Amino acid sequence: MHENDNFIEVPFESRHQCWFCAEPAASHFTFPHQYHLVFNCQHPTLTVPSCLECLNAALKAKVRNIWQVDQYVKKFLIKKYRKDLAIGLNWTQEELANSGFEGGSFSGFQKSAWFMYEVAKERVSFRGWPLVLDGIEIEKDDCSDSFKFDGVCYPSIEEAIDHYSENFRLDAMFLRQVLAKIGTEKFAQAVRICRLYIGATPDEKSRALRDL
Ligand SMILES: [Zn+2]
Repeated sequence: MHENDNFIEVPFESRHQCWFCAEPAASHFTFPHQYHLVFNCQHPTLTVPSCLECLNAALKAKVRNIWQVDQYVKKFLIKKYRKDLAIGLNWTQEELANSGFEGGSFSGFQKSAWFMYEVAKERVSFRGWPLVLDGIEIEKDDCSDSFKFDGVCYPSIEEAIDHYSENFRLDAMFLRQVLAKIGTEKFAQAVRICRLYIGATPDEKSRALRDL
């Protein structure tokens, strides 16, 4: 059926999907491949269906297994679609609908913005189906440290910190310190605290950290 060896089994409902992002898969990606030498890869060579965009990102990943490739691809998508993802940080769907942009030069933005946000969010948050080769499921190594916040699943908390810091112009180091103090499960609160301290001096920030 496929010209490639080791094409993973694809569930019927996913038969047109990219394993990385669930968009229509126009191509496929094999790992390990000839462009990056991997020593002691802990799984057999695998081929997964992929869209062209994820394929191009995946080929650049200098990592050791397919799950790390997936993380690399998600980081790439978060970077590339940063502005689309930021829609959901800055607006709710209702706010956007009632934003009063109709008719003006922003009406195009209003129409497409939420849709673009939803697409980017779905792609970044998608997790591929289990990898099964010849009836045998390939065990995922258990170092997945994905971080879910506000409907978006980030490869790790680092990407969430970077994303929020960039979009709200936050001091990323301060955000890390606040999170270390109050716990990563209070991510929303940490972001709110950091937004209060935009433009604060280092002294004011260390005082705030002490008082937390
Ligand atoms: Zn894709």
